[in-house]
Amino acid sequence: MNTHRYELMNAGVLADLDWLACDLVVADRADWNAAPAAALRSHAEALGLAGGDSFRTVRANQTHGDAVAVLTADHALLARTDWADLLLPRTDAMILCVPYRLGAVVTADCVPILVADTRHQWVALVHAGWRGTLARILQKTIRRMMVLGSDAKELRVWIGPCICQNHYEVDTELAARFAREFPETPEAVYGRLLNLTAINSAQARAMTIAGEHIAAANHCVFEDHPFPSYRRDGHQAGRILTRAVIRKG
Ligand SMILES: [Zn+2]
Repeated sequence: MNTHRYELMNAGVLADLDWLACDLVVADRADWNAAPAAALRSHAEALGLAGGDSFRTVRANQTHGDAVAVLTADHALLARTDWADLLLPRTDAMILCVPYRLGAVVTADCVPILVADTRHQWVALVHAGWRGTLARILQKTIRRMMVLGSDAKELRVWIGPCICQNHYEVDTELAARFAREFPETPEAVYGRLLNLTAINSAQARAMTIAGEHIAAANHCVFEDHPFPSYRRDGHQAGRILTRAVIRKG
């Protein structure tokens, strides 16, 4: 398994959370297609997990929808002991509330986002491409966390590496839809160029999360070759796995 591990960029908002371990793993297309579970499990010791099959993984199947799953210890699928690598159907975001389960978001241009609740020690993993961003999946995830008891003051948001505005041109009609839907961030739609990081950041602020508790990697996957970009690499694109695990509880 030829995967490479990276630290999160510009992740100061998560830095002092000793209960949360996060990183990025880049897998090339062939490895990801042949053995996604093995890619997900690689470099696990760096997250404080023992190797092999000693822990379970969980990820959403990512259909570019806006459904949010809540992973508590009594979740029906987690209770099944025969699924070490759990793929949540019809889901694009999950709120992970149980320790020692490796959660991951899988992207190659889209935006991976982590939301940490510093009091409850939960972490949400969100997949936001243009469809998810337009459907306000980050806002819906944060709202769901608040229903579960999260307080905006105790949430930290990290917006991961994705395609930047200079490299993300969409058609005129879609750009116009974004401009209509997000009038509060006019700079995020420049002609036909979309800034998904800015729009997701605005969604977090709209949920009353303070600006100093929101950080963005500001790292363009199209420009940085070790990172996969679907726009640049097409069907040969690998995947970025944004991983998080709760280490206490
Ligand atoms: Zn770029």
